[in-house]
Amino acid sequence: MDEGRAVEDAARVAVLSERLAAVRRRIGSAAEAAGRTGDLPTLIVVTKFHPAEDIRRLAALGVRDVGENRDQEAARKSTELAELGLKWHFVGQLQSKKAKSVVRYAHAVHSVDRLQLVDGLERAVAAEQDKTGRGPIDCFIQVSLDDDAGAHRGGAAPADVPVLAARLASADGLVLAGVMAVAPLGGRPAESFEKLAAISSRLTADHPSATAISAGMSQDLEVAIRFGATHLRIGSDILGSRPTVG
Ligand SMILES: *Cc1c(COP(=O)(O)O)cnc(C)c1O
Repeated sequence: MDEGRAVEDAARVAVLSERLAAVRRRIGSAAEAAGRTGDLPTLIVVTKFHPAEDIRRLAALGVRDVGENRDQEAARKSTELAELGLKWHFVGQLQSKKAKSVVRYAHAVHSVDRLQLVDGLERAVAAEQDKTGRGPIDCFIQVSLDDDAGAHRGGAAPADVPVLAARLASADGLVLAGVMAVAPLGGRPAESFEKLAAISSRLTADHPSATAISAGMSQDLEVAIRFGATHLRIGSDILGSRPTVG
């Protein structure tokens, strides 16, 4: 690395370190304010659109869980960074035909929202387990909290959760972890996350181990923690605004 690059690199490390610490402080305060004792929610740093080099820097700062929302980009980065042993979380809308690729690197899929995708993931993970002996994949049922179908950001209707959960619970190589949601744009996150908490508690009545709640992004992590989030997906408040690459 030449001197100019080294200075640039050190500056970026300093920025990431500071923003990461600020987010960790917010998580700590929010958990305390919510009276949550015990384990803090898992911080997943969503690195989509940011270069693999930033993920390397974050790993050096102690980040173990990273999130991506596009298969091609995630596949490329996870291959390049394989030696870091990170946990890759797939958080984007997923076409069933991409299941084969996703199971090569994903520790968890947060966006399971239809039976066809469960079929695809189950088949793909079985083939991958035969080949590489990989472990099971944690699956979150993504729930749509949008009343307005026009503003749809992916996710199953709340009424479809029980059927999806039963199917996931009986799928080989997949573990029903819990639920995931994105608070609707322009809505009130407290209302959304309260709704998600109720969906989660109905789910755990039937599936006691499916306690995970993946909720909370840069803008609303405090509210998500208040309503029981166990996994936070934070991008821009750590990495900055996303560069516009195609
Ligand atoms: C991009 C993304 C995030 C992170 O959002 P920020 O607002 O940048 O923190 C979280 N969840 C999903 C599903 C995403 O696509």
